[in-house]
Amino acid sequence: MMNRTRQITIETHSITIIRISGKQHSAHCERCGKTVTAFAPKQIAAFLQIDVAEVCRRVETKKIHLINDGESAAMICGTSLEGKKFN
Ligand SMILES: [Zn+2]
Repeated sequence: MMNRTRQITIETHSITIIRISGKQHSAHCERCGKTVTAFAPKQIAAFLQIDVAEVCRRVETKKIHLINDGESAAMICGTSLEGKKFN
């Protein structure tokens, strides 16, 4: 069981603060060309208060980056969330 919650804070332009609870890991984002903090689509969906299907739609429209580094689950690039407006 993974009941432990870690809080991740990303500060963007010192205005927007994104807090996402749960697991985090680093992954290489091809679009950013660097190692970024990656989040599960579910975490992003919870944070943005949208459903996972909408997260996928934003990935498809290239608003956010999908990381698929060969691991079982696709992750979302945390860096691609920076500076974005979600409303
Ligand atoms: Zn990226």
